[in-house]
Amino acid sequence: MKILLNNDDLNEALYNVSNLGFIPTMGSLHKGHISLIKKSQRECNKTIVSIFVNPTQFNNKKDYKKYPRNYKKDLSILNKLKVNFVYLPRKEDIYKSKRAKKIKLDKKDKILCAKHRNGHFEGVIDIMDRFTKIIKPKKIFMGEKDFQQLYLVKKFIEEKYNTKIISCKTIRDKNKFALSSRNLLLNKTALIKAGNVAKHIFSFKKKIFKKKNIQKIINDKKNEIEKLFNIKVEYFELRNIRNFKSSNKTKDSKIFISYYLNKVRLIDNI
Ligand code: AMP
Repeated sequence: MKILLNNDDLNEALYNVSNLGFIPTMGSLHKGHISLIKKSQRECNKTIVSIFVNPTQFNNKKDYKKYPRNYKKDLSILNKLKVNFVYLPRKEDIYKSKRAKKIKLDKKDKILCAKHRNGHFEGVIDIMDRFTKIIKPKKIFMGEKDFQQLYLVKKFIEEKYNTKIISCKTIRDKNKFALSSRNLLLNKTALIKAGNVAKHIFSFKKKIFKKKNIQKIINDKKNEIEKLFNIKVEYFELRNIRNFKSSNKTKDSKIFISYYLNKVRLIDNI
């Protein structure tokens, strides 16, 4: 496994590499990340993983500071997986050049997380644009856990580059909560609660199949979940998975939720 600490290392290592699979991460790796890496190893000749906690996608400085960082453990996981390259860029490697045109989301995309985290997806798209330009991967593997991110990045990158974005299923704990690096900020009781919230939504989604007046049922459920689990729900919405429009049926749709548990913001889609 080659560790690439700057862009000179990167250019040298990737010279002549074709059919490259890329997995961008912010580290504190878990089984969700590992499933993306394994998929890349099955589909591509070589695999590169980046670890970079990207400051521009945090709309809150405190959140950036407390984001879990475990570089040593991450490198040991990646080494065991026999990943070809790990890219650990410095901020200046990524943000050396100024962008000619500012990233702007379409008005219709200012929903869910985009509505509640000002500038977040602009930061994500910007860094994905920069990564794709320097790494030139054939495929980028991204998780459905961050479904809106996957949708927006896919739209931007596939239009601009000859790179495919490959979507990968959400990996859950046996308790059903979606694995996330932010789970390291939660205690055991909170994780059990997160699992119960997910289980509750899975069974709710089955029950509303073919029901009429779904939007009212969804709104009522949002309030019920807040009371039942004593959590602050930021959004709870049923949306179509292809165009993200509000949906009236469960077919081709997912329930998107964001909520705060012990001051940690969690998202899921079911
Ligand atoms: P992050 O390190 O949180 O920025 O995530 C890096 C990549 O891993 C993103 O494409 C995420 O969607 C993906 N990912 C995070 N958690 C999971 C999970 N539980 N299952 C599948 N993919 C995930």
